Amino acid sequence: MDFVTLSTIGIRVMVFLFGVTIGSFLNVCIYRLPAGESLTKKNSHCMTCGAPIKWYDLIPIISWLVLRGKCRACGAKISGRYILVESLTGIMFVLTFLQFDVIVGGLIYPALLCLFLAGLIVIGFEDYDTQEMTVGVLVYLGIVAIVTRFLTHFFPKVARGCDITLAEGLIGLVAVSVPFLIIGFVITPLIYSFIDEDRKSARKIRKRLKSKKLDKAEERKLEKALEKHLAAIKEQKPVFGFGMGDPILMAAGGLMYGWKAAVFAAFVAIILGAVYGLIVKYKASHSDGENIKAVAFGPFLTIGLALSSFFGTQLMDMYINYVYTSTHLV
Ligand SMILES: [Zn+2]
Repeated sequence: MDFVTLSTIGIRVMVFLFGVTIGSFLNVCIYRLPAGESLTKKNSHCMTCGAPIKWYDLIPIISWLVLRGKCRACGAKISGRYILVESLTGIMFVLTFLQFDVIVGGLIYPALLCLFLAGLIVIGFEDYDTQEMTVGVLVYLGIVAIVTRFLTHFFPKVARGCDITLAEGLIGLVAVSVPFLIIGFVITPLIYSFIDEDRKSARKIRKRLKSKKLDKAEERKLEKALEKHLAAIKEQKPVFGFGMGDPILMAAGGLMYGWKAAVFAAFVAIILGAVYGLIVKYKASHSDGENIKAVAFGPFLTIGLALSSFFGTQLMDMYINYVYTSTHLV
């Protein structure tokens, strides 16, 4: 083997090991950030018995395999999530670096892509666990995307290898996030206000309270009923599990990967979300009362964005070319 091949393999192995180590830190983020715990203060400890974990049991992937997923002190099961996140991060980092010739193009652009992927992994698992995204991670993704666009546009010799233009990034910023905002916060509530029983009843009662002459007793009765409906409306979960985090995530993703990748990611997420929804429905109808976890939309969006990090633009170009040629050649 010649020197270039050897050093290329060497770099890939190093990237994988580095990714796995970062993945180990991402695990900490995924568990501690939603709970509002500090990332640096406390040492790692067993979730079941609280025993501190020794350094030699904290080696990513290897420790989990050696202990066969059990705590050394109490034998309690350690979630397979740890090894999943660690290997996922390692693999994603290697896949990112495989797209570039780092010896010619340098490390900066692939490194920025890895930083963004790391944030996506945290947001995806966080949203899966808690149905919420922490503001800090969304801000982090936004900053990585802004720095990436800034460097690739103004210092293309420093951050080499990027084929997404500033314009594509800026269109990406709004291409999916704005439609999401409109669907989530204008159209859906509007539709909902016409199909939800509590909202319908509340509207009717308000009308009657205004228009008709009522005696005190009747009025009080209606007011009480209205209060009940309003309380029920307050208790309702956000419709379709669409939160404020999703549009922000897609704004950052669009800025980072360009509009084609953002649109591709939204498609992937909608398809995966629909398939998952069908599975949940099927399982719910075939199991008596057993609780099946409903999932937020965020994890599907992060999968879509991660995929588009590797080939979103190429796939959208293929699709656009296909549509273009098939409509122009006939
Ligand atoms: Zn333990």
